[in-house]
Amino acid sequence: MEIKNVTIAGAGVLGSQIAWQTAFMGFNVVVYDPFEESIEKSKAFHKGFADLFLNKRNVSQQQIDETNKRLSYSTNLKEAVANADLVSESVPEVMDIKKSFYNDLAKFAPEKTIFTSNSSTMLPSSYAQETGRPEKFLALHFANPVWDANVGEVMMHDGTDPKYFDIVLKFAEDIGMVPIPIHKEQSGYVLNTLLVPLLSSAQYLYFNGVSDFESIDKTWMISTGAKFGPFGIIDMIGLQTVYHIALMNGEKTQNKLMIDRAAKIKAEFIDEGKMGMSTGEGFYKYPNPKYLDPDFLK
Ligand code: NAD
Repeated sequence: MEIKNVTIAGAGVLGSQIAWQTAFMGFNVVVYDPFEESIEKSKAFHKGFADLFLNKRNVSQQQIDETNKRLSYSTNLKEAVANADLVSESVPEVMDIKKSFYNDLAKFAPEKTIFTSNSSTMLPSSYAQETGRPEKFLALHFANPVWDANVGEVMMHDGTDPKYFDIVLKFAEDIGMVPIPIHKEQSGYVLNTLLVPLLSSAQYLYFNGVSDFESIDKTWMISTGAKFGPFGIIDMIGLQTVYHIALMNGEKTQNKLMIDRAAKIKAEFIDEGKMGMSTGEGFYKYPNPKYLDPDFLK
């Protein structure tokens, strides 16, 4: 099966990036979002990505013009998927919204259409039934920003037909991702299964006064050759998200250390407006964080 026409559902942060990257790599893309305001925001994102690709990624004006020609926008789901070979879903991370979106999609999409979800925390099996075609449904998970952090984690659930697993792995590669095959459901895929415990251990060391955040980052960077340490990564993700994860996991497991940690993150960072890279300060100060200084690792 050849994939040519792709519909991106949910025109927010990630949907807009996936749409741009997919159109840039030569596919016809319809961006679908039920809200006109979100479509307008997505168009503004796309203008920004065009500038970024022109100025920072050595792309020609002709390539940008061709990418724009391949992009169209719609607030009507039926029209948006009428010709879709594949739908990539990036609607909000709320179970009821996901389920109701797939219920509607099942009504309108042609039989041939493959459905992929970009959910970061929900397993495809939790809403496979709503798709009406569990065998053609699986996860294709991106990292942010999709063109730099270009892994495409492709994950089956028990009911996925392996034929579509292979097609989606190939599609991920065709849009410039390095495809990562995940043969059974794993919450957090590969990346977050590795990353979440690392970031949690780093916070444990820091908030319990075992060491300072720069020394913890230096240890990781020197000994593994990584470009960033855990606190550099935390600043990129944003302290708000890290706070929510600590609070949620702490409450779920009744872990007092973790609940206390969440309270410290709130008081020392969030209440002070230090959300990380996005606000110019988190653990480090931006745009020139100390860990980029050539002397940092000496
Ligand atoms: P976002 O809030 O930026 O965008 C969500 C979009 O969905 C909005 O434009 C909203 O208008 C639209 N929407 C709301 N209801 C809808 C519906 N019924 N049908 C279609 N669209 C609808 O969210 P985001 O950060 O882009 O995240 C979207 C998905 O991508 C989530 O599942 C998230 O886990 C996943 N994801 C996010 C990131 C990230 O870094 N933000 C990374 C990987 C995966």
